[in-house]
Amino acid sequence: MLKVNNIYFSYNRALTLKNIDFSIAKGECLAIAGESGSGKSTLLKLLYGEYDLNRGFIFWNKHQILGPEYNLIPGPDYMKYVSQEFDLMPFTSVENNIGKFLSNEDLNEKQRRIDELVAIVELQEVAKTKVKYLSGGQKQRVALARALAKEPEILLLDEPFSHIDNLKKQSLRRSLYSYLKQQNITCVVATHDKHDIVSFADSMLFLYQGEAIAFDSPKHLYEHPKNSLIASFFDEFNEFKISEVTDSKKFGVVIIYPHEIELAQSSNFKAVVKQSFFNGDHFLVNVSFNNRNVYFKHTKSLKSGQQICFKIDENIIKKRASILEDSFEFHSSI
Ligand code: ADP
Ligand code: MG
Repeated sequence: MLKVNNIYFSYNRALTLKNIDFSIAKGECLAIAGESGSGKSTLLKLLYGEYDLNRGFIFWNKHQILGPEYNLIPGPDYMKYVSQEFDLMPFTSVENNIGKFLSNEDLNEKQRRIDELVAIVELQEVAKTKVKYLSGGQKQRVALARALAKEPEILLLDEPFSHIDNLKKQSLRRSLYSYLKQQNITCVVATHDKHDIVSFADSMLFLYQGEAIAFDSPKHLYEHPKNSLIASFFDEFNEFKISEVTDSKKFGVVIIYPHEIELAQSSNFKAVVKQSFFNGDHFLVNVSFNNRNVYFKHTKSLKSGQQICFKIDENIIKKRASILEDSFEFHSSI
């Protein structure tokens, strides 16, 4: 089990991470989400023992993870960390980069393992190519394969698919995460891209300015976004004042995703169409409601200037109103 117990950390005077506390079981995949600068990479580095904590503890089972003050070489051998700056050997082949830390005792076994790893990251076509000739995305895949070569118990990944093009990303993610599950490797992934993790992570930790603002499964967080920062990670969203959608006199906003709004014959929600955006399997329709923008999904494009009515499912409104957190202030995209 990975246990992070009340940790605090600062690079200089201001605290970069405050009171982070969570644990995950062996074989689980945790996503660390949050805006740029929220402290994701710092948290991964602390898990790897790159810095000394100001306060708190980190344990992997019975081993305490210690920073450079107590442990000169960061990174215990049961842990591998793929940073945003993967440092590879540019003048040797993909295969040699991956095989660097594998034993030479049984060369057939070594080659079998290299082939297996090359296939997981889908680099068969460039296996014999020198790393310096590869694209950024291909290099990132070599770094992933190398981290897996001597199978770690925990794998720490910092934005692992950021350089990889969309065409490859989806199949690579599936193949990597299913390999990790199959081998029962615990994994912590920092990302700001929902596609990297929502289908794969068992839990998610949301950081905001160095503090944990939520910890739960991706599905739970999506369905019960406590605030707009969490909602914005998953999708575009609308905010309605609670008084606009219920009889309540309470102050606050509820989050409604675009697919939760439908056109209606008549309703109290009257709006005027501004624009329809083609989005593949649907159109995202932008309407003006109470002088602000509301977005919803629709199968067809609607004409600008057209008057429409829309409706929102009562149960969704109830569910969102019940989790409302009015102390949090974060205003986003829409
Ligand atoms: P994220 O990965 O979420 O983008 P980081 O962990 O990289 O965030 O950064 C968190 C905060 O710590 C930022 O304000 C960043 O400027 C600061 N920071 C990161 N690395 C250092 C460093 N080596 N020295 C001083 N400040 C740093
Ligand atoms: Mg980062």
